[in-house]
Amino acid sequence: AEVYLNGKWLKHDQAFVSVFDRGFMFGDGIYEVTPFYNGIPFKLKEHLERLQYCLNEVQIEFDVTSLEKIMLEAVSRAGLSKSDAAVYIQISRGTAPRTHFFPENPTPVILLYSFPVNLEKFETKRWKLLVSEDKRWHRCDIKTTALMASIMANDEAISLDFEENLLVRKGYFTEASHSSAFFVKYKTVYTHPEGPNILSGITRKQIILLCKNSGIKVKEKAVHLDELVEVDEIFLTGTTTQVVRVESVHSREKELFRARKSDITTFLQNEFIKLTRA
Ligand code: PLP
Repeated sequence: AEVYLNGKWLKHDQAFVSVFDRGFMFGDGIYEVTPFYNGIPFKLKEHLERLQYCLNEVQIEFDVTSLEKIMLEAVSRAGLSKSDAAVYIQISRGTAPRTHFFPENPTPVILLYSFPVNLEKFETKRWKLLVSEDKRWHRCDIKTTALMASIMANDEAISLDFEENLLVRKGYFTEASHSSAFFVKYKTVYTHPEGPNILSGITRKQIILLCKNSGIKVKEKAVHLDELVEVDEIFLTGTTTQVVRVESVHSREKELFRARKSDITTFLQNEFIKLTRA
């Protein structure tokens, strides 16, 4: 497959970055994943805005406006203009001799490519989740390529036959290892408020909007582990996850939650399909 690297389209096995790339050495980079339904981007502007926000927060100087055209080209070059796909973008601070402090005037390294993704039948999935301590840093609103805590948590879940994690910080659910988490309690939908403890999910925002537009009560308020007994439904959202129903939640020792209902999740899944398959 072809990838875009610093202004050039290259075969992926011909595309190289320096061993002194700060993305490689420090995880000093930002990334973004944008979905394309039947070749049509979904919320592309929002994804580029989040990318720009993250770059600004870590002081990587790069203007994302030029990327839209390249994203569309990536999808068409990959032959995915008529299918479901995603575009991965990664921007590292650039290449410089290794120092902790930022090098002067580095040139960011831009990697971008499109890949096929199955965005169908997400509504038939029933996921089992593992509760894990949220060991990530205190700026989870920044979509950094430094994902050690997330991948370690997720590997534990997958190796124990779970589909995802539910991360807990100081007793409260933050989100999942690579998706946002929603809880339905007394017919109200709860999700952790935006801020440094979660990524501001683009899908999350769409779901909150769908709730508001359909008269479903929604509160951006964190749910505590002890509240699980009152929860009827849990679902996860994300660019490739879309909206997935959770069947059960477990600690390493025991089951902590089993879905009692699915009405609100199913309703939101159907609304989400209308939104993305217009
Ligand atoms: N939370 C985390 C930690 C993620 O990595 C992701 C997606 O990759 C999400 C939430 C979902 O965000 P989005 O809906 O923008 O894909």
